[in-house]
Amino acid sequence: MVSRVIPVDPFDLVIFGGTGDLARRKILPGLYHRFCAGQMPATARIIGAARTEQDAAAYRGQVAEAIAEFLPEGSWDAESVAQFCERLDYVAIDARGEGGWKELAGLVREGVVRAFYLSVAPSLFGDIAERLHAHGVADGESRIVVEKPFGRDLASARALNAVLAAHFDESQIYRIDHYLGKETVQNLMAVRFGNILFEPLWNAQYIDHIQITVSETVAVGGRGAYYDKSGAMRDMVQNHLMQLLCLIAMEPPSKFEPDAVRDEKLKVIRALEPVPPSAIVRGQYRGDANGPSYREDAENPESRTESFIAMRVQIANWRWSGTPIYLRTGKRLRARESEIAVVFKDPPHSIFGEQEGRRGNVLVIRLQPDEGMHLRVTIKEPGPGGMRLMEVPLDMSFADALGPDEADVPDAYERLIMDVIRGNQTLFMRGDEVEAAWAWTDPIIEGWEERRDVPELYDPGSSGPEGALALMHRDGRRWREIK
Ligand code: NAP
Repeated sequence: MVSRVIPVDPFDLVIFGGTGDLARRKILPGLYHRFCAGQMPATARIIGAARTEQDAAAYRGQVAEAIAEFLPEGSWDAESVAQFCERLDYVAIDARGEGGWKELAGLVREGVVRAFYLSVAPSLFGDIAERLHAHGVADGESRIVVEKPFGRDLASARALNAVLAAHFDESQIYRIDHYLGKETVQNLMAVRFGNILFEPLWNAQYIDHIQITVSETVAVGGRGAYYDKSGAMRDMVQNHLMQLLCLIAMEPPSKFEPDAVRDEKLKVIRALEPVPPSAIVRGQYRGDANGPSYREDAENPESRTESFIAMRVQIANWRWSGTPIYLRTGKRLRARESEIAVVFKDPPHSIFGEQEGRRGNVLVIRLQPDEGMHLRVTIKEPGPGGMRLMEVPLDMSFADALGPDEADVPDAYERLIMDVIRGNQTLFMRGDEVEAAWAWTDPIIEGWEERRDVPELYDPGSSGPEGALALMHRDGRRWREIK
């Protein structure tokens, strides 16, 4: 199969925080990748902006180094990096000062898409939004991209929304959750709504439960002090896991259009039931020979912040009543793995006798590693010896199904940045979605604080605390193994 790459319209992309970690690790290497794929028009320009005083030539050198550092060897070459860097410019700007804005206003062009990526601390969003307007850099068509964390509770998220809304219309604001940029996440919508096979079974009558797991092997490490103010609930569940839950549970939108999709996601969040303490297990990793404990990493010997969380979530609507969704995410676990498993109910009767059992199908949507999907089905074990059954996966992994070229899909950031340039907000969170997610999250976190809840310790390299296993056992179910 031949890849179809459709170039986007000419653009000026200004990256505030263009010298920072996110820009160096993800945004700029991602843009380079799109440049190599032929998606970037010849007149596209990227302008880095940060306080550091330097000229465009020095910035180009920095970006070339970042590409070499963060892209795998063999996936870049010096000549194309040099060509890519010709599109780069740099302006020294302090978000809170007045210098540099005039120069930036002179650099952005009329008649091309203007996008501003705020890869800086959220406390600077207001200063930047205000100055973009005051200095005539942004106009009514410009787009603004913001990163997580979008607030740390409902009040702060509302305040951020208000700051942005003072200068930009909602149709201009792109709140990034890079999980939504993953190929498999979008494929989930294609599988659900592009086939007749799954949707009739996609409800509490046929689905026993759903598991969403995002397990990481890394510790909080150098980010310990920052992470300690956040924890797994704020850092992962409120945004990434919640977005996955919405896509798996939402009603079919009438069209694949931004507001149609986001309206349906919002309905799911609003239908989430409050979660009782008995349905949540929080954990903190112990130390071992390979690394310090969570509390040592956080430099807080009394920390009550969770580096792991498992919870049972119920959606109060006709489709899902009685079918729980289990969420699980944590640091320093056995493997780096993200997947959604839709566990169907057993067939109502086994014609093969009870010893062969009745086996439910499982649809596994794997986000990492090796994005792909497989459906576990029951077949006859080959050979003589009667009707013995076995389970096999019907594999839909991209590399096998589509060939290596097609499987070389754009990274989530690349895809989302190209969507910004195209003006497509489907895969970005709307302000009311983010607020609804915090409105559900806040009482849970407040409950922990009131009760001075202490997380359960777990061994690094395990699949989390014992309590998480017990949470499932009590419901007569089992977590899928983290391998
Ligand atoms: P970082 O490495 O600390 O970079 C911050 C950037 O902002 C630098 O380029 C810095 O350059 C610039 N900056 C700081 N103060 C400024 C000011 N007053 N005016 C103009 N520029 C200023 O941070 P980061 O890790 O890239 O993160 C950026 C944002 O993305 C944060 O909101 C973070 O939470 C979010 N995020 C990061 C990641 C990640 O993997 N790193 C992932 C998800 C979300 P100067 O010092 O030269 O001004």
